[in-house]
Amino acid sequence: MKKNDCVRKCHLRVGDSVLVLCGKDKGKRGKVLALSHRESKAIVSGVMVVSKHVKSKKVDGESGIFKTESAIYSCKLKVVCNNCDCGTRVKYVLNDGKKKRVCKKCDGEISVNRDIKKKKKHRGLNV
Ligand SMILES: [Zn+2]
Repeated sequence: MKKNDCVRKCHLRVGDSVLVLCGKDKGKRGKVLALSHRESKAIVSGVMVVSKHVKSKKVDGESGIFKTESAIYSCKLKVVCNNCDCGTRVKYVLNDGKKKRVCKKCDGEISVNRDIKKKKKHRGLNV
């Protein structure tokens, strides 16, 4: 993609719990670990687990086959509301000039779990 291409921000935030709508991991739930708005992809814990064959670049580094999460398109993910515990769409409400994310079904605020440390800045998500 070119640098000037418009980036459409997706409905997810890092730390959201999400529900997978299709694919081999359909029905699974996980936490968003990293996001790429440019690619509209996300890395979700326990979803799209792939085996990576890694050969160490150092002499005494680790090499072998490791299981890691790979990126999934954000359109296949639905935010799970923590109040009503179901997959929902997100509504934005202005409150004192601040944007709040609100569940469409129960009007409860969707809070973000800030405990998850953001992954380092990455060039795309194909780590
Ligand atoms: Zn809700």
